Amino acid sequence: MSLTDYIRTIPDYPKKGVQFRDITTLLHNPEGLKAAVNQLVEQYKDLKIDRIAVIESRGFLLGAPLAYCLDAGLVLIRKKGKLPCETLEESYDLEYGTSTIEVHTDAIMPGDRILLVDDLIATGGTAEAAIKLIRKCGGEVVECAFLVNLPELKGDKLLEKLGCSTFALCA
Ligand code: 5GP
Repeated sequence: MSLTDYIRTIPDYPKKGVQFRDITTLLHNPEGLKAAVNQLVEQYKDLKIDRIAVIESRGFLLGAPLAYCLDAGLVLIRKKGKLPCETLEESYDLEYGTSTIEVHTDAIMPGDRILLVDDLIATGGTAEAAIKLIRKCGGEVVECAFLVNLPELKGDKLLEKLGCSTFALCA
């Protein structure tokens, strides 16, 4: 079974016309979660990753076991207002309005080799904001890794313009 087979698509969620890629079915399945994490470990085990930056909230689910396996630290990138200590923030446009993400100022050391992890890249707006945040902290984004890339939305091309490569386990 390929990883794509573990992920279901929900039509018209959260609104009409959107084909939502629902990864909960991959998480339900012990084989699915293990295969996804193991494939990411294979991809990054020799790249000397210091810390894995994970985007709230589904990025946490893949990034935490990956950080454990790679002996890397885990950096939480959260929606504004969720982190208790001093933060840096970055805002980005959504279809309607804007959103802001934050990271603790002491979460990344200058020169740290950072792997950015989220469940899915669509337009790339969320990952772009996260990359800017990591760079504000002095971190080097080694790569951006996702379970799913939706290439038709060109998020990977946006990250390329920022000088970051995209790796995804499935489309
Ligand atoms: P982007 O900023 O690239 O347009 O959207 C990516 C962000 O929205 C990610 O944090 C991701 O979790 C969420 N997202 C957007 N569409 C989907 C989807 O179809 N399935 C899942 N699981 N997440 C999505």
